[in-house]
Amino acid sequence: MSIDELIQNWDGEYVAARYERPAEAWIFIAVHSTRLGHAVGGTRMKVYDAPEEGLRDAQRLAEGMTYKWAGIDFGLGGGKAVIALSRPLDEAERDRLLERHGALIESMGGAFSTGADLGVGPELVDVIRRNTRYALGHSAGDPGPYTSLGVLSGCRAVAAEVFGSRDLAGRTVLIQGAGDVGVPLSRRLVEAGAQLKLADIDPARAWDLAAQYGAEVVAAEEVYDEPCDIFAPCAVGGVLNEQTIARLSCRAVCGAANNQLESDADAERLHARGILYAPDFIANAGGAIALPGLELMGMSEEEVIASIESIEGTLGEIFQEARQNDESPLSAAMRRAGRVLERGPVAR
Ligand code: NAD
Repeated sequence: MSIDELIQNWDGEYVAARYERPAEAWIFIAVHSTRLGHAVGGTRMKVYDAPEEGLRDAQRLAEGMTYKWAGIDFGLGGGKAVIALSRPLDEAERDRLLERHGALIESMGGAFSTGADLGVGPELVDVIRRNTRYALGHSAGDPGPYTSLGVLSGCRAVAAEVFGSRDLAGRTVLIQGAGDVGVPLSRRLVEAGAQLKLADIDPARAWDLAAQYGAEVVAAEEVYDEPCDIFAPCAVGGVLNEQTIARLSCRAVCGAANNQLESDADAERLHARGILYAPDFIANAGGAIALPGLELMGMSEEEVIASIESIEGTLGEIFQEARQNDESPLSAAMRRAGRVLERGPVAR
């Protein structure tokens, strides 16, 4: 589809687009819904074969943010920025482009705030911030610990649903990916008394962390066959698909990775196998809550922690609704988000 067709056929609110001639790059800021509040979503930057692909990504990801905020009933709207590069840039060109992106965001007067995403780490958010007040997350601040707290809360909800108790003591959790989320999640789980299993494609990372917590290391290619109570994908997307779901030897899945399901049909596959799936966009919302909460909405650290820990109650309600309707938690979560959007914002 062409750029105009993509915009005409989209159910979102609007797209701000700017072509940056010196860098030969497009900036797309897609605002899908401001029904619950101002739009907040990360900035992704990568080389695309065609700008239309970048716009499509921005629109799809912005819609995902609408459902993320609505799913946890947090008063923000869905938006996303994509900087569609036509070629790799040198550092000076890249920084200039990010500064221009910041200026575009500033000109929107707070209608859209952004943060890190693929290709834009926290240090590049600092570059965007040179020209705008609406760039969240500092190179000094890491969202991983907040995200891991949300995943821990999700694991408690999962344990309550599957085992009848939110207590994680003695439960075996297999973490795939010993990175920014996997490391603090390991600590939290060990503190909660869980037994840890760790896998990483970089085995040294898994071994280092395992040595710290007395955990077992599992070869990265064997994670799907490894028996455990909860499988926690904290590495990459697309890990739950027809092939891997057939191999899973766990009672539940709850992790941080974005887009864990290769397709929505995989939620049904997990449901058919009796494996409880905590929808990723809810389980991994901790970092997303923390940055705008602290930097945009004036929440205190305690309020942010409480908000992240409420992921446990949210998932508990989603699991209950899914159980009552004999459906996947993904279906229940999407319906719940739809209800929140229909209801609209609430005064806090
Ligand atoms: P990270 O890059 O810091 O860590 C990922 C780890 O996974 C690395 O150690 C890497 O070696 C490992 N890995 C990659 N492919 C693997 C594979 N196939 N098998 C096993 N290990 C593999 O990333 P992160 O910040 O910890 O994020 C992890 C996931 O969670 C990503 O999908 C990310 O999008 C998502 N997420 C992260 C946050 C956050 O706050 N960091 C928030 C929401 C979602």
